[in-house]
Amino acid sequence: MPADRSKRVVLVGQSRRRRVARVDLMSQQKPFQSAVFLDRDGTINVDRGYVYRLEDFEFLPRAIDGMRTLQDLGLGLVIITNQSGIARGLYSRVDLARLHDYMVQKLAKAGVSILGIYFCPHLKEPCNCRKPKTGMFHSAADEHRLDLSSSYAIGDKTRDLSICAEQPVKGILLSKEPTTPEPGIRCAPDLWSAAKLVVGDFQTRASGS
Ligand SMILES: [Mg+2]
Ligand SMILES: [Zn+2]
Repeated sequence: MPADRSKRVVLVGQSRRRRVARVDLMSQQKPFQSAVFLDRDGTINVDRGYVYRLEDFEFLPRAIDGMRTLQDLGLGLVIITNQSGIARGLYSRVDLARLHDYMVQKLAKAGVSILGIYFCPHLKEPCNCRKPKTGMFHSAADEHRLDLSSSYAIGDKTRDLSICAEQPVKGILLSKEPTTPEPGIRCAPDLWSAAKLVVGDFQTRASGS
């Protein structure tokens, strides 16, 4: 017994720091999760053009219900939004953060939690984030270990679905009028209807067809 114990102590002593480091690393290795990349203006809230004042922020009808439905399917909600109003000098990052805090609080009260909000503040500067560029999607995927092959993108402009041309993300374009979307992109009039399409996908998958 004493021999065993001393052996164990030596082993623990030698590897403790390394083992702790490995445990920390392991805890960061969350399993891959599926997500929905949501545009903001015109998808979640009424697009009034450069919305940054709290009083101008109005959720679209049933948008919150749609988000809750998506969340209940186990999908993480990620908001991906171009905010060139910052580059245009119309509002500041502080204004935007205040608005997003407000939005997140309203959603939390309705039982909806947001995994992350990614915004592009640029306009003319070369950047990788301004949609249709896909930098924000990739940042979110890396930071939250997202499984893109089981994820969705939903937005009211084709640029909100740019990731779908590059990765196996399923896209839903929000449009009240009949449109001809890119191949593989479906259409829905609003976020609630889009969420129902996603529910349909899950049901189809569950029934094994
Ligand atoms: Mg939009
Ligand atoms: Zn950018």
